[in-house]
Amino acid sequence: NRDRILQSERLNVVSELAASVSHEIRNPLTVTSGFLQLLNKSTSITPEEKEYVQLSLLELNRAEKIVSDYLSFAKPQSDNMVFSNMQAEAEYTKNIIMPYASIHKVEVKFSFDNTLNKSYDKNQIQQCLINLYKNGIEAMRDKDGGILTIDISEKKQNILITIRDTGIGMTKEEISRLGKPYYSTKEEGTGLGMLMAYSTINKVKGNIEVESEKGRGTTFLITIPT
Ligand code: ADP
Ligand code: MG
Repeated sequence: NRDRILQSERLNVVSELAASVSHEIRNPLTVTSGFLQLLNKSTSITPEEKEYVQLSLLELNRAEKIVSDYLSFAKPQSDNMVFSNMQAEAEYTKNIIMPYASIHKVEVKFSFDNTLNKSYDKNQIQQCLINLYKNGIEAMRDKDGGILTIDISEKKQNILITIRDTGIGMTKEEISRLGKPYYSTKEEGTGLGMLMAYSTINKVKGNIEVESEKGRGTTFLITIPT
């Protein structure tokens, strides 16, 4: 089952506002979660109180997930702007997800051909790539591992980024839902990762094509004009 999605204007508004408060949200989350963990170890609270503490920790965890899927790299700052070819971003983020890949028995193959330069917000591109890499890995965890192939090259005046997994794949219907806010098929999912990816690629006037086959895997092909 093969299909493609062309890039559309998807909720740019949300990311602008959200990004500006992301940083401020993170610190209180960390502090609160730290104190709750201390309280959780206390021997003087009742079992019922302990349960409240643990529920609170779970909810904080979820908030933290939303921040990290959607906002952690998104803070828009002019000094995040670079004129570069995305190699540094693709490799840096590949290294960040390596531990996640190995615990899910995923092998990561990375290849890079020198490409043209382009102005972009490097933090947003990093967040976008991480979200796509993570989805690829998560699509393979139920298949007991697989291969994540990341490839950067250039074609005519475009930078091409290909991210391919050998995971569970998607039906046509599932593909058409990608990028809709809160669409997730995962128990712990936020449904914000693809939204962020689409909105980032949209900002650099690129587009994302999806090819997927149920049970076999998925390829995201990102084309960014220079
Ligand atoms: P989340 O990962 O939190 O579920 P995303 O927005 O990142 O949210 O992805 C939305 C949904 O799209 C996922 O729950 C999954 O069903 C599907 N999806 C995204 N990437 C892939 C992929 N590489 N292979 C299979 N399904 C995918
Ligand atoms: Mg995701």
